[in-house]
Amino acid sequence: MMGKLFVVSGPSGAGKSTLTKDVVKKLDNLELSISATTRKPRKGEKDNIDYHFLDEKTFKQKIEEDGFLEYALVHGNFYGTLKDEVLKKIKAGKNLLLEIDVQGGIQIKEKFDDAVLIFIKAPSETELKERLKKRDTDTEEVINLRLKNSLEELKYEKDYKYVIVNDNFEKALKKLGDLILGN
Ligand code: 5GP
Repeated sequence: MMGKLFVVSGPSGAGKSTLTKDVVKKLDNLELSISATTRKPRKGEKDNIDYHFLDEKTFKQKIEEDGFLEYALVHGNFYGTLKDEVLKKIKAGKNLLLEIDVQGGIQIKEKFDDAVLIFIKAPSETELKERLKKRDTDTEEVINLRLKNSLEELKYEKDYKYVIVNDNFEKALKKLGDLILGN
């Protein structure tokens, strides 16, 4: 049987990456897809583990070669899901979790009818702002840009089949796991 694609999106600061990292540890036969990006690695991030870090020229070459299932410009950098990697895994029966932005999520939905789209959000706008500020990995300018884009991202909630409000980490994690198992 072919593996399934699960897409998780939502504003940065909603706790998406911690939730997705933890849920793949908890569930069998579910892997996190490794995206390509032109963003520079943050402290502690490793190439080919957190992302495939590419320069802009290489990324654009891959676009020309039709090497992406989806890609988008997010917060001023390119991000994309590599076609070969994903197809190889789902053909081998692996289920994959794609933690990507809403523009990417919509592209995946158009290509994969049975992809399951999950939107994760913070309990409130105020809470979202607080969470973004607490992240000391980004500069003030980056934080403000992310906040602006996050509010924009919230408009796409309606295109997602499921919505999880991350007001309590353990509860949100359980919900995400149950949702994946149920699909
Ligand atoms: P970050 O720079 O914080 O790791 O990620 C920034 C945003 O890019 C997040 O919203 C994340 O979901 C999104 N993103 C990461 N990988 C991809 C991808 O392959 N495609 C798309 N469209 N967005 C991605």
